[in-house]
Amino acid sequence: MVWDLYLFGVLSFTSAGIFCVPGNFYIDPWLPVDMAVITHGHGDHARWGMKKYLCHHFTVPILKSRIGIDIKVQGIGYNEPITINNVKVSLHPAGHIIGSAQVRLEYQGNVTVISGDYKTQNDYLSTPFEPVKCDVFVTESTFGLPIYNWSSLEQQNEQLRQWVAQNQSDNRTSVCIGYSLGKAQRIMKALEGSAPLYVHASIGKLNEAYTSVGIQLPDYETIDLREDIKRINKGIVILPPSLLDSNVIHRIPNMANAICSGWMQVRGARRWRSADAGFAISDHADWGGLLGAIRATGAEKVYITHGRTNILARYLNEIGINAEDVKTEFGDEEEAIDPVIPARL
Ligand SMILES: [Zn+2]
Ligand SMILES: [Zn+2]
Repeated sequence: MVWDLYLFGVLSFTSAGIFCVPGNFYIDPWLPVDMAVITHGHGDHARWGMKKYLCHHFTVPILKSRIGIDIKVQGIGYNEPITINNVKVSLHPAGHIIGSAQVRLEYQGNVTVISGDYKTQNDYLSTPFEPVKCDVFVTESTFGLPIYNWSSLEQQNEQLRQWVAQNQSDNRTSVCIGYSLGKAQRIMKALEGSAPLYVHASIGKLNEAYTSVGIQLPDYETIDLREDIKRINKGIVILPPSLLDSNVIHRIPNMANAICSGWMQVRGARRWRSADAGFAISDHADWGGLLGAIRATGAEKVYITHGRTNILARYLNEIGINAEDVKTEFGDEEEAIDPVIPARL
């Protein structure tokens, strides 16, 4: 294990994950450890095998559903500090999915914030992102290229609704592909009232985590595509990316399918051609969102995880912000829809 304590921070980037040295706990570790603070419920951040988990209240049912009902997990609210080994720990809204949190660590007057995944655009399902002042900021950069520049939520939703309306007038069933925790619920909300909503069982299971914490979702039905496909004609079916090229999807009569992912902003995405349409709807910050969030922290040191870390690091250093990329094992929940990295920006 490499110990590397930074002057203005309390973190060490280790082979098991991001480690808070004085606190003796990890943030989103990828190997089993004693104590893990979890930013949100996606699989690359919330993994199996920790002796104890700490996360936002809303993430508790997600962890139990994904990792195991009998895990030892403590839920806390946003802006409710607790002290762990003299480190003041608090969670702050990251706007990524429900319960997603930035982790603020205060120790001996220095403040470090680990963003987890975040988006600055309000999706009206997750608690909106709040910038947190700090000395050291660890940021994600899934879409850390200037070409990623999202349109407004209203425009995104309107485009999706228009596509569904067109399919209906063509007597087609609309199949929307989006990952099951976060994106699927946004699609449901965007298309509320457009046509009956049918969701895959994996999405239905996570919808229950939303409703269990009081978040209202549109009416929907969970369907088994091996049995129920006749009655879904002209409806809207929401499926996870793993089913994009499956036989199941191609057995749906008169269907048109669309991928909903930030990667869809780049037309060269490898799997674009296997779908009829693509909508750049993302749960991550775009390039402008990343830069705005980083500036708002006022941090004098920035560490960058996920995605195109080196490009964002280079850019930040050029504009006078001391930035460095760090290697982590965070993936990307939208990765099932693989991007092709453009040769030029
Ligand atoms: Zn995530
Ligand atoms: Zn992530």
